[in-house]
Amino acid sequence: MSTAWAGGADAIAERMEKMTELFVAEIRKAIYTGESASHCEECGEPIPEARRAAIPCKYCLPCQTSLERAGN
Ligand SMILES: [Zn+2]
Repeated sequence: MSTAWAGGADAIAERMEKMTELFVAEIRKAIYTGESASHCEECGEPIPEARRAAIPCKYCLPCQTSLERAGN
């Protein structure tokens, strides 16, 4: 049994985990900046910045709610 190998495998696993975290963070950033609209695509009202920062969205809250209720 080699403890050196076990330590190496742990180090690699740890590094991969960190890389995955960074990768996911990059994807999230790309989605958030790329998909949020500044104005609602349904009614044209400006979407509050806080809402756009929280989740990628194309509609204002009232429109989003009614679209979700309609099954979209
Ligand atoms: Zn709207």
